Amino acid sequence: MIKFMLFIDGTWLYSNTSRLVEASGEPGFVLDFGKLPRVLAEEVGRRLGHDEWTVVRTHLFGSYAANVDPKDLEPVERRLNFFAMLRQQHHYEVEAFPIEYRGKRLRRTDRDPNDSFEPKEKCVDIALATSVLFNAAMSNAYDVAIAVLGDQDFKPVLQNVRRLGKRVAIASINGACSGEYSDPADRARVRDVELLWLEDLLPRLARRYDPHWLDCQSPTHKGERKVETTYYPKRGEKFYCPACREEFARQREAGTAAGGNGGNGGNGGNGGEAQKHAPIDTSLMGVVRHKRLDKSYGFIMVDGCGEYDGAEYFFHESDIADGTRFTELAEGTVVDFHVKAEPPAGKAPPARDVRRRVTV
Ligand SMILES: [Zn+2]
Repeated sequence: MIKFMLFIDGTWLYSNTSRLVEASGEPGFVLDFGKLPRVLAEEVGRRLGHDEWTVVRTHLFGSYAANVDPKDLEPVERRLNFFAMLRQQHHYEVEAFPIEYRGKRLRRTDRDPNDSFEPKEKCVDIALATSVLFNAAMSNAYDVAIAVLGDQDFKPVLQNVRRLGKRVAIASINGACSGEYSDPADRARVRDVELLWLEDLLPRLARRYDPHWLDCQSPTHKGERKVETTYYPKRGEKFYCPACREEFARQREAGTAAGGNGGNGGNGGNGGEAQKHAPIDTSLMGVVRHKRLDKSYGFIMVDGCGEYDGAEYFFHESDIADGTRFTELAEGTVVDFHVKAEPPAGKAPPARDVRRRVTV
């Protein structure tokens, strides 16, 4: 059994996705990050003549803009949500570093032409290099490093990994790859396997709407929550299984006269009345909404807690539990928390001890 570890230069990969889209010939092409580690491992395994392999870990190094002009918060949120998705759904080890924007616009074309501000990405290359070498120096961490990158700066790192007795495979993109990596003779001695072009693997890396398993999020769901579906909920959208959706439709048809609430004693919430708030210290679960990166706060909508569902709680960065980071709590993230205090007049009550819910 050989052990692979993946190291992805995320910044490089995003800035070159357009090349992949072009090469795929499908304008709607989307790279499936869930498949990437396995497809690369299969390919490297095949070339090395091993059919028994395992991917020990996938590291992705990237960056995000910090302190941008509030007009540009949306793309920043999207990037952070993407990182959260990689962590939560695909178990990537993501290391993301902030790029300081000092309140300025994200695109140069939106900034004052006389403004000499130059955003600088820090640490990303070094973090990748350190991680590849650190794990190479650890006994048994991996046998083969699969590096997904193209910048020639990594050349000495890859050479040193090989000097430490580990093998290196490189996956890259045509037009965004240092000639020293793609050199068929490998005069720079950076790899042990012929270079893998991501372009050649696109049919296997495309995101398809294949059947997959999801947890039904309806609080009244009966039986096993995992349901097979071809549906992909959007960020922040709840997934209800077909049985629960049918049940809701039936209840709606049966008329609101019946109370509409299936008799769980709660307040319907659509009659305009205030949501019921739980007493101080109650442990609740909910979904992060309306997060404001620039102000370090957000709201949680209670979900899956019966009579308290639909109520909103306020949280500040300082209300987050140790081990969870503010940037991890993208909108749509399911969290556990406790009620911190009574609500200030007319406002959402505060939450404390907010932590990302770990789903097994
Ligand atoms: Zn259900």
